Amino acid sequence: MGFSLQALLLAVTATQALASCAHGTFLSPRAEDGTVKVNKFGYTGLNGPLNWASLESPANIGCATGTHQSPIDMIDGQFTLMKSSDIQLSIPDIPEGAEFENLGTTVEVIAKGGTLKVDNKDFELQQFHFHLPSEHLDNGTSQAMEMHMVFQSTQQEVAVIGVYINIAPPSTTNNNNNANANNSTLTPTPFLESIFSTITSITTPGTKTTTPALPLSSTLQTLLTAQSNTFQSYSGSLTTPPCTEGVRWFVSAARMAIAPETFLKVRDVIGFNSRFPQNKLGEPNILMISSLGASKAAVEAMAMGNAQGVVAVAPAPVMVPMGEGGGNGAGRTTVTTTTTMETSAPVVAGTGTGGGMMKVTPARRRAY
Ligand SMILES: [Zn+2]
Repeated sequence: MGFSLQALLLAVTATQALASCAHGTFLSPRAEDGTVKVNKFGYTGLNGPLNWASLESPANIGCATGTHQSPIDMIDGQFTLMKSSDIQLSIPDIPEGAEFENLGTTVEVIAKGGTLKVDNKDFELQQFHFHLPSEHLDNGTSQAMEMHMVFQSTQQEVAVIGVYINIAPPSTTNNNNNANANNSTLTPTPFLESIFSTITSITTPGTKTTTPALPLSSTLQTLLTAQSNTFQSYSGSLTTPPCTEGVRWFVSAARMAIAPETFLKVRDVIGFNSRFPQNKLGEPNILMISSLGASKAAVEAMAMGNAQGVVAVAPAPVMVPMGEGGGNGAGRTTVTTTTTMETSAPVVAGTGTGGGMMKVTPARRRAY
């Protein structure tokens, strides 16, 4: 399938799929009846990210073929560094509390009213949700959690601010000002503690509750817009199906923190919801490379008569004299075998026979 066809199919069908990173945006409109839609995809086994493309085809094809997929390892050369003054961010408090939902794949706060302006483009905050552990890697290192604040423009473009969340040291007291980005990981971030104080009410996918008042402007906005703060910016994708590309990412250098006991509560609800790190931007999708590699290996295995992937382990090669073992001209044939003669037929490697393979029966081997 050519790339242009894939892109076309993706564009046509992307709006039909659910996605945590896109939930509440044009890619995944919220249910109008107020119910919480539980996502179909998951993070392990056949529902996991290795298989997202086939869960909903062709809508999710970008998950397996896209070349600007997220998350990535944030190493030099993969992002542009932006100062906090390069973006205009406004996140008002939510004194009445916000809706907090369990989507099955993440927990998400419906937070309206925030705005992001970058490069003269306006985005509106739709929601924020959490990944555990972090999806982006900070120069190769996974973080305890990552928050994604999802914004959407009137042209239906998506921008996401990613913020790492660390576990606060248990001995610290909560008397620091979180406005200081450098100290933000030492004490639990107040609005996170407020949100997660209600997480035990939504342990079941499809349930929702209301958070206490969320002091977003005094903590989150202050943290992100601090003069010393920077953002690692790049153009990537949603980290959930349909893995749509063209998403503007801003991964913040400022970090938040949660108390150790809060982390344990959140972990028990979220479990694990992190897509594996994708290939470098612009390079082929790892799943394409993997698929081609697997096909090549399968063909080679079939050529070797070992198509079912039967590989004999050989703690002790058995030497078979010429004439008995197939006559490979070297006088001896190396036979790989298992230690239990009765349970496995040994396989000969490198015998020089026509098919390259020859079986030696246990009875023959027993003669030596
Ligand atoms: Zn996300």
